[in-house]
Amino acid sequence: MAAYTPMILQYLAIKEDAKDAFLFFRLGDFYEMFFDDAILASRELGITLTGREGGAEERIPMCGIPYHAAEGYIARLIEKGYKVAICEQVEDPSAAKGVVRREIVRVVTPGTVMESKSIAEKANNFIVSIAHTNDSFGVAACDLTTGELYVTSFAAALDMLTDEVNVYHPSEIVGDNGPLEQLRAAASGWNRPVLFTSREVMEAARLAEQFNEVNLPELPPARYRAVSLLTGYLDDTQKRSLGHIRRIHEYEPNQFMILDPFTRRNLELVETVRDRNKKGSLLWLLDRTRTSMGARLLRRWIDKPLLNKAVINERLEAVDKLYRSFMLRDELRRELSEIYDLERLVGRVAFGSANGRDLNALKSSLQHVPALTSLCAASDSATLRKLVDGIDGCGDLAAIIETVVVDDPPVSVREGSLIRAGYDSYLDELREASVNGKKWLADLERQEREATGIKSLKIGYNKVFGYYLEVSKANISMLPEGRYERKQTLTNAERYVTPELKEKERLILEAEDKMVDLEYAKFIELRDHLAVHLHRLQKLAEMLAALDVFQSMATVSADQRFVKPEVTEGFDLIVEDGRHPVVEAVMEGTPFIANSTSLRGGGGGSSMLLITGPNMAGKSTYMRQVALVCIMAQIGCFVPAKRAEVPLIDRIFTRIGAADDLIGGQSTFMVEMKDIQTMTEKATAQSLVIIDELGRGTSTGEGMAIAQAVIEYVHHVVGSKALVSTHFHELAHLEDTLPSLANACMAVQETGDNVTFLRKLVPGAASSSYGIYCAQLAGLPSSIISRAYTLLETHVNEQDGLQRSAQPLAIEDKKELVAASVREAASAYEQAAPVKETVIAPAVTAEADSSR
Ligand code: ADP
Repeated sequence: MAAYTPMILQYLAIKEDAKDAFLFFRLGDFYEMFFDDAILASRELGITLTGREGGAEERIPMCGIPYHAAEGYIARLIEKGYKVAICEQVEDPSAAKGVVRREIVRVVTPGTVMESKSIAEKANNFIVSIAHTNDSFGVAACDLTTGELYVTSFAAALDMLTDEVNVYHPSEIVGDNGPLEQLRAAASGWNRPVLFTSREVMEAARLAEQFNEVNLPELPPARYRAVSLLTGYLDDTQKRSLGHIRRIHEYEPNQFMILDPFTRRNLELVETVRDRNKKGSLLWLLDRTRTSMGARLLRRWIDKPLLNKAVINERLEAVDKLYRSFMLRDELRRELSEIYDLERLVGRVAFGSANGRDLNALKSSLQHVPALTSLCAASDSATLRKLVDGIDGCGDLAAIIETVVVDDPPVSVREGSLIRAGYDSYLDELREASVNGKKWLADLERQEREATGIKSLKIGYNKVFGYYLEVSKANISMLPEGRYERKQTLTNAERYVTPELKEKERLILEAEDKMVDLEYAKFIELRDHLAVHLHRLQKLAEMLAALDVFQSMATVSADQRFVKPEVTEGFDLIVEDGRHPVVEAVMEGTPFIANSTSLRGGGGGSSMLLITGPNMAGKSTYMRQVALVCIMAQIGCFVPAKRAEVPLIDRIFTRIGAADDLIGGQSTFMVEMKDIQTMTEKATAQSLVIIDELGRGTSTGEGMAIAQAVIEYVHHVVGSKALVSTHFHELAHLEDTLPSLANACMAVQETGDNVTFLRKLVPGAASSSYGIYCAQLAGLPSSIISRAYTLLETHVNEQDGLQRSAQPLAIEDKKELVAASVREAASAYEQAAPVKETVIAPAVTAEADSSR
């Protein structure tokens, strides 16, 4: 080690503090990486690996990137889940004795990026911390770009931790090692990379300083610890004051509907099952926001449906009034389009990275606030009026920015041309000196041309030699002797200075230097002034975001013909002519067939539906639609139906077969059973349980047995509303013994060899020979087909003998009922659907069922 050069020794010492990050080591205009960092970075970034003498025998691996292009490279490393420590020269190289002093000024991590290249505009980027104290877990989540900070705690159970952390879609998780490791294992199925960092240092003093406005000791220990771990980490990595993180939003997990990670994915709330793209998700459909703040808030609302009827009704009231007034909606939308991302602008002000353009964006946004507030204040919506009541429009801040910053400032804040004339008298003087100096130069150029007769003589400037007179080689002979001192020789020209040029140059450059410094100082002064008022801007931003979400929900509700749901504290879920909002929106040509839902408790009907029907009949679409109606109602949005009565649902549990089954190498069946286990443990009477294709993935006999047992359990023990689909049509007999369960099936119409899916839910059960019919159409030998039918017959008879309480008459009656419903559905379909969807395999309806 002793053999290394002083600079490499310095590098190694600094690298000690950034072992888990790429160290970007500033050398002049480059960030250099050395040793293993260089090898890995050259591979990850596709840049050339070189070497450097460093005192040791072997050359040191090295690669570098120009500092001005760093943002792009950092973004790529962050996206891959790495951290990048940025090490700058912190003293003037010309003043340095020996090696220039260098320090890590910031560590960029996936959860703490501020650069716009690395973060989605319309989604929060949360870093989450988890803490374990005694028997509780604490979870804190912070978006550094906006300064939001949420914290909660609950009993130390991994599944609750997973659910809660997932609400935030975090890109990075830090905290106590125990739960962190458990979570890391559980997170293998998440469809996003997450960076985990163990961190267990508490810094109470630091915490008090950051949040002097809240009474910290009152936070329960797990929450206190979670916030402390998080702020400590932010402090260590960001190494600067974070003035925009001042408010802690505390909440209880049971203030919101609980949705486990799989349910969130299955219902495609904010992204689809296939990818992280929001297109095709509920968010995609509902997002008609005009601001990024609104888009992010809508996403947070969808992630956290409410359980408080009063608050839901407040939201619904605003949506309702906006729904009814196209004019108001339209005007709000127009004004909101002029509002920039205040939350992130505030973040950049606090972070010290806001430039002149950012402040002007802030200013022009603020200038549109009065129009928005007066629209709300004059509206007939109590919610909107309350929203803007006493709101501080921060007009004073807009006015200050207007007086200080020019209309069209450059990106850089260190190159002048930033501060408005008339704002600072000394700056004005310097500016005049510089302008006069430039004029003097122009005069000099003219005089010298006349004196020498060289028309092409010109005055130029470069960083090394300053101002000079340039004369082309051909004209040199025309220069008089003496006054001109040669400074630089080019191929075709010579450059000279004169004593008077030197003298003026000093004055001009001094004025310009001073001017740039002073402009920078004035700008920072303004930024610091704004930093004192960040909490005011944050409050305003919150108001604007909520307003934007209201208009977004109203706009989409009007466009998609949604209706205002009636939210109740009862049990019954009643949806008249409900639709799946997203499937409906993406369907082209064929109309979406509406289906009603009536899940009632207390003997007033059935709270459970057992849905049968062939594949592709529309079962899972129907079940998802019911869940989405509940979620939409509980975020305060209108719902896709003719009428809806929605009780507060505390938790939606879904077991819907999807691509996620193969994750983590578990068998489909095992995954299903684990999910069911969670359901049995967590679901309450207030929950909604949805199970698609219950009991698949194991042998028929076993699958059916488990399915029946699970259905009975939900019926007798859980008592929740439930939708269960199964391909075991044999389970239809449960309707006879379970009073709260009713059979339903997706109607299918057969004509000859063709089958039309009617997509209509009708009472009764479908039969099963669909699969064998399919095999027949696929051309399997007739001996196989007839053998299959025989076996099926035997099997069904056995099942009947074993399980069915024989009531032939009742069953015949039901068949007739089903047949009648199918006829009715078919004629409704004829009217609704000009284009029919036809497949070549028949599903089995009530008629076919009679062949038994
Ligand atoms: P299943 O779960 O019974 O296999 P799906 O619910 O997946 O069937 O539905 C299959 C397809 O049928 C869906 O992708 C959708 O395009 C269409 N579909 C489902 N329900 C309806 C409906 N109510 N109206 C119109 N088309 C529907």
